[in-house]
Amino acid sequence: MDDRNSQRRIDLQKIIISESDKKILSEYSENQKPNESCAILFGKNDTVSDLFLTENIEESPVNFTISNEQLIEGYKMAEEKNLDVVGIFHSHPDSDAFPSNTDKKFMQSNPVVWIIYSGINKNFRAFILESDIIEIPIE
Ligand SMILES: [Zn+2]
Repeated sequence: MDDRNSQRRIDLQKIIISESDKKILSEYSENQKPNESCAILFGKNDTVSDLFLTENIEESPVNFTISNEQLIEGYKMAEEKNLDVVGIFHSHPDSDAFPSNTDKKFMQSNPVVWIIYSGINKNFRAFILESDIIEIPIE
């Protein structure tokens, strides 16, 4: 266990996303109401440079699932663009932009940055999962 290294990694972590990409994601989320919306975020390191708006196959206001087909398609698109999957986006139409218990569970199997948009206060917040949920800055 090396606490020093993990601490350093956390300190450095942030996510950079453009205002225009945030606008696309917030508009997409508003359009998908009352259900949660979701997207795969492509980029390099801590910078988002491309979006893949995906379908929430659960059609639920409190959960989301991206189909395996779209996940595979997303990873293929990233490879073609020579980018990485740097984040997963979803919306909370009726709650704050904080990971739910279900989100926490899925964050364990998808260790990328999770960006959540709140339909209530129109806030974007970003999180990673270390031993617990850690909020990281969006720039
Ligand atoms: Zn959620």
